[in-house]
Amino acid sequence: MKEALWYEKLPEGKVHCGLCPHDCTFGQGLNGKCRVRKNIDGVLYSTNYGKAGGYGLDPVEKKPLYHFHPGTYVLSVGARGCNLKCRFCQNWELAHGDQDEMEVTPLGLVNAAERYRSFYDVAGLAYTYSEPFMWYEFVYDTCRLAKESGLKNIIVTNGFVKEEPLKEILPCVDAMNIDIKAFTEEFYEKMAHGSLKPVLETAERAKEYGCHIEITTLLIPGLNDSPDEIEKLVEWVSLTLGRDTPLHFSRYFPSYKLEIEPTPVEVLERSRETALRELDYVYLGNLGTGDYVNTFCPGCGSKIVERSRGIKVRGFKGGRCANCGHKLNLIA
Ligand code: SF4
Repeated sequence: MKEALWYEKLPEGKVHCGLCPHDCTFGQGLNGKCRVRKNIDGVLYSTNYGKAGGYGLDPVEKKPLYHFHPGTYVLSVGARGCNLKCRFCQNWELAHGDQDEMEVTPLGLVNAAERYRSFYDVAGLAYTYSEPFMWYEFVYDTCRLAKESGLKNIIVTNGFVKEEPLKEILPCVDAMNIDIKAFTEEFYEKMAHGSLKPVLETAERAKEYGCHIEITTLLIPGLNDSPDEIEKLVEWVSLTLGRDTPLHFSRYFPSYKLEIEPTPVEVLERSRETALRELDYVYLGNLGTGDYVNTFCPGCGSKIVERSRGIKVRGFKGGRCANCGHKLNLIA
């Protein structure tokens, strides 16, 4: 447990938390909506500081990040707590449950990543599994140490965070995968108890800071997969973040409180075709391997990264396609 950042003390022992757009105000003995920030005697504490609920060495592609050091590994860590309440949460045991926790320290994690580096091609640390911004103080401390050690920091997030905390941490963050769960406020309100606008603002700010960004959208049948909504999402990504921003459409499977049929493959394929009119790199996740997960040069169509039984990067030189010279948004 550690005293939280981004809060103010109010009269009568209440606190106002300014970490995320929920802007919770609550009295002594109570938690905010995320359930991991507690008011104890008028002081706000991060109750998950130093407690990891998930830990493991993952391929960076699993985050998913396809254009950031492909083929490398990242030491992934996550803690309990989330500020959204998605009915379809794919990670609810950690986000909202009471998963077993292990004690961790920022230095311990950085040292562990360094040790793994002796055996594997480890790019850095990924803060993932649930919502890293609900573990803000710990992630911030670890990011700073990791940066000093030359490790990359990756945040896999729902993007529902306020401007000031985001700006404070961004100089230490190298890459983000941001979930845009749908492109309507109605969906965010009904299905996730959040809102879309702050998420889009997070993506814009991260881009301004030069952070590598990839976007993921889980397509859920009948809820966020209409052609019209996909067109609007794709147009926004292209115009605001750039047409070379990688977009991952992921296949939904029943989980947590939502029990509808998995996304039909045709819907994923149709969405990808729509997106490829405006974006250079569009991937389909949760479908297995195949060309949906490979990277092609938007200029000449050469295969640049093959992801099948291992990751092979080829035909990539000086940031460009070795065949046609097209500039590629790929950090390798
Ligand atoms: S971080 Fe938690 S306590 Fe703070 S405003 Fe968001 S939901 Fe509320």
